Amino acid sequence: MRSETARTAATVLVVEDEVALSDVVQAYLAKAGYATASARSGPEAVEMVRTLSPDVIILDLGLPGLDGLEVMRRIRAFSDCYVLITTARSEEVDRLVGLSVGADDYLTKPFSVRELVARVHAVLRRPRAEHGTPAAGSVRTFGELEIDATAQEVRLAGRPVPLTPTERRLLMTLAHSPGQAFSRRQLLEAVWGDSWIGDDHLVDVHIANLRRKLQETAESARYVTTVRGIGYRMGKG
Ligand code: CA
Repeated sequence: MRSETARTAATVLVVEDEVALSDVVQAYLAKAGYATASARSGPEAVEMVRTLSPDVIILDLGLPGLDGLEVMRRIRAFSDCYVLITTARSEEVDRLVGLSVGADDYLTKPFSVRELVARVHAVLRRPRAEHGTPAAGSVRTFGELEIDATAQEVRLAGRPVPLTPTERRLLMTLAHSPGQAFSRRQLLEAVWGDSWIGDDHLVDVHIANLRRKLQETAESARYVTTVRGIGYRMGKG
């Protein structure tokens, strides 16, 4: 099904084993103009991402067959679509941060379905990697780190770094103005859009994942450094 505007033609795959919840979520998404599909188990989810190439996946963590984290690992091998994780327990979000699964957003159950649809709108408004970052058409080098804004590629010591769209966009935003301190709010607006309604903690989650992929920690940061009381900047500033 295609509707008249490009935005609303996006496909959302709902991965959820609670049939009633899946049906409600799909009904709201369809009403908002999205094409929807559903998967009820981990293996089915991986297969459907492969065959359907959805724009967004809403991924429940507790699934039969393969759990949501394993689904995430498998799909990240071939897809960089947006992923919103839904989970029954808020403590799990902290565990997820530690595991660096590279989701774009998290919602704790029970969630408002309207809120979920708003989050889907929000991720889809974010610029996709292939559209590039305006006015940054060159390769910037920070030590062993190379950031190619035109090709949207990041290499560390010559090897490509597999970043999610969110991590890439964060890094490109910081690297576009090396040394400039960005507040979390500025980064949220640049990466998630100015209508973002979640909390600033999400920036820290993605910065932590990004640093892990750049083989640095908050303490040893050479590339993405913390600016106390403000936020983050690229390089030592
Ligand atoms: Ca479940």
